[in-house]
Amino acid sequence: MSCCDDLDPVSGTRSPGPWQRRFGDLTLTYLPDATLELVPTAFFSTSTGADWDGHPQLVAPSGRLTAGAGALLAELGGHRLLLDAGAGPVSLGEDDTPPPIGTITSGGLPQSFSDAALDPDAIEFVAVTHLHFDHVGWASAAAVEHGESLFRRATWLLGEGSAPGDEAAERPADHDGRSRLVGDGEEVLPGMRAWALPGHLPGHTGWVLDTGDGRRVIAFGDAVHSPAQIQHPDWDVAVDDETDVARESRLRLFEELSREDTIGYGVHFADRQLGSIRDGHWHPL
Ligand SMILES: [Zn+2]
Repeated sequence: MSCCDDLDPVSGTRSPGPWQRRFGDLTLTYLPDATLELVPTAFFSTSTGADWDGHPQLVAPSGRLTAGAGALLAELGGHRLLLDAGAGPVSLGEDDTPPPIGTITSGGLPQSFSDAALDPDAIEFVAVTHLHFDHVGWASAAAVEHGESLFRRATWLLGEGSAPGDEAAERPADHDGRSRLVGDGEEVLPGMRAWALPGHLPGHTGWVLDTGDGRRVIAFGDAVHSPAQIQHPDWDVAVDDETDVARESRLRLFEELSREDTIGYGVHFADRQLGSIRDGHWHPL
């Protein structure tokens, strides 16, 4: 018997390990890269300690919120694509993130690919929700020695209005211009559409995947960072670019995630990444 057989498989405070789920014709495989430990009242800058007392299942004994940052492989209609690309080979301590909102330890994605017997060269598309380093990650030239990114054959899919940041880690590698800006509602592949969810960063986009049996999965990126925001949609998020616009996007998203046919994927939702909203709460799947 291993150490952890008796643990709840979905704890709310653990970094997500690798997982695979099938929904209709769609297969999703989570490939871990990074673990973030966030200071709840700093990251959600208008939340209070008393607010968080109401969410004991999300706060680790250290007082931090745990979040993963990894890549989600979607196999859909014969295509292999990634949704976001991890955080890359970086580690940031508290002194590196003024104001101190947390820490990140990253660099596991190549190992996750090899553990899953997957070749990064098999990835045709990388759909990035937005151009922050913890989503561009291994799609950046800065992440690898040969300067092409880990996914040398991939075409980047970015939401219209996406603007690369100043840091190299926030820019997808050049790849001879293989990059496509996708407008709100546009179908990029059969069964995959973009959904503009602005506010966190210009061009922030959710990706909506049909399962082929009447359901859909929405990968909503950083429109929401924690399931606690479902009860507190008004909390300001320290890393949101436009607070009011981000709040509107969250509310639109919560409406969709409350539908019977809709499954959400929150990359930063600790080990509760897949779920839906039932009775006003995140219901992990
Ligand atoms: Zn993020």
